[in-house]
Amino acid sequence: MTPVEQTPFRFRIERRGVMRVPGVVFATRELLPQAAGDMALEQVANVAALPGIVRASYAMPDVHWGYGFPIGGVAATDVDAGGVISPGGVGFDISCGVRLLAADTDRGRFSPRLRTLMDILGDTIPRGVGRGGLWKLAGRSQMEKLLTGGAEYAVERGHGVPRDLVRCEDHGALPEADPSQVGQRAVDRGLQQVGSLGAGNHFLEVQAVDEVYDTDTAAAFGLRPGQVCVMIHCGSRGLGHQVCTDHVRVMDHSLRAYGISVPDRQLACAPVVSPPGRDYLGAMAAAANYGRANRQLLTQAARHAFATAAGVGLDLVYDVSHNTAKIETHDVDGVPRRLCVHRKGATLALPPGHPNLPEDLTEAGQPVLVPGTMGTASYVMVGTPENDAFLSACHGAGRVWSRHQALRRVRGEQLRGEMEAHGIAVRPSSWRGLAEETPDAYKDIDTVAAATEGAGLARLVVRLVPLGVVKG
Ligand code: 5GP
Ligand code: MN
Ligand code: MN
Repeated sequence: MTPVEQTPFRFRIERRGVMRVPGVVFATRELLPQAAGDMALEQVANVAALPGIVRASYAMPDVHWGYGFPIGGVAATDVDAGGVISPGGVGFDISCGVRLLAADTDRGRFSPRLRTLMDILGDTIPRGVGRGGLWKLAGRSQMEKLLTGGAEYAVERGHGVPRDLVRCEDHGALPEADPSQVGQRAVDRGLQQVGSLGAGNHFLEVQAVDEVYDTDTAAAFGLRPGQVCVMIHCGSRGLGHQVCTDHVRVMDHSLRAYGISVPDRQLACAPVVSPPGRDYLGAMAAAANYGRANRQLLTQAARHAFATAAGVGLDLVYDVSHNTAKIETHDVDGVPRRLCVHRKGATLALPPGHPNLPEDLTEAGQPVLVPGTMGTASYVMVGTPENDAFLSACHGAGRVWSRHQALRRVRGEQLRGEMEAHGIAVRPSSWRGLAEETPDAYKDIDTVAAATEGAGLARLVVRLVPLGVVKG
């Protein structure tokens, strides 16, 4: 698979075979071979075969192999012209996402308290695959409230302040949620896990603003040089995973009934307006709300730790999901169309002036949160009007080594020693999990962020560096 270079940041996979549209890969020459190595570009081409797909099958600069769709893939289908929805285009960790909190202190002033803070966080943030969360729900009826209300329900129950919701994508809750489509097994898996990180790619990281590229936008986001921040990355835990599993099975069986053939069974899908399509959309939105409530609970735990360690408060900068399918209106060939936009390992990136922005960010645009690795930088970017990938941007650095490859090359104990020697406090959940997350397992975040800007997907606002990480 050799895409054709169109600009230094944009490559095209020409239409052929079953593809209905071309593929577009936003990358540099340097990033491209890494993407090509792991079948991710074949997956971009496969996605282009989905019924109703419009414009192109897109890949962000952090693209890598995933289930059916690549991670870092964006595809929009026309809801009113047979367009499909595919659980593989959302991923197993529904509404996995990132939120950034800004502390009311800076790095120099805070450093004497860092160790204490990290110890408290290490003791109080639930993590690891099977671990229970901070908020145990009473049963299915309370779960249904949470699946409907998302972060709004969490705040209503005292887990946060109303201002938090202003800075959440969709105000913290997707209105399409249909808890009746979330099976009992998914509910059972989710009852004990609200307020928990999950496995090793998820984290709660204390960071500092290291560089500011756009002072005005940074100020609008509430960020300044040297400021201490907290980045939280987690999703919908076992509940989201079970929802994906359950609905993939249904759609796998219904493919024939709708006369759909896909080049890869992992692309199982159904028309958005069909019963299985609608059922999945409702279940997916419910699981997304669970993910948002989860990040809200972890926010409160971070606030508690900061208050105890240093008497410092935390304001929410923004919360954005990177595993979703949403019904949005976009212009296609000059005509507004209702589209189902799949963003899998890709975040929404609203430009200045967009009506879905919180009022106080109308002029600035949406914060686009781009974690790097626990040992390198992370970035805050902002949406741009020239974005032509349905207002989507990258969601991280993107893996280059599988977890297995990382385990063969790195030992967790040694990695922690190296990171501590570089002044980064590490609170791992397991040595194995830590080794899998070695910074070498990811693409170079500086290159990915620069390519994202070069491709016009988003603009750099600030660079964050890690001070301490609590790993899932
Ligand atoms: P994903 O949701 O695809 O698992 O991960 C999103 C991104 O988070 C990854 O592509 C990677 O760049 C980033 N990431 C993973 N672990 C860490 C971490 O411990 N700290 C930071 N800052 N970023 C991380
Ligand atoms: Mn996740
Ligand atoms: Mn994620």
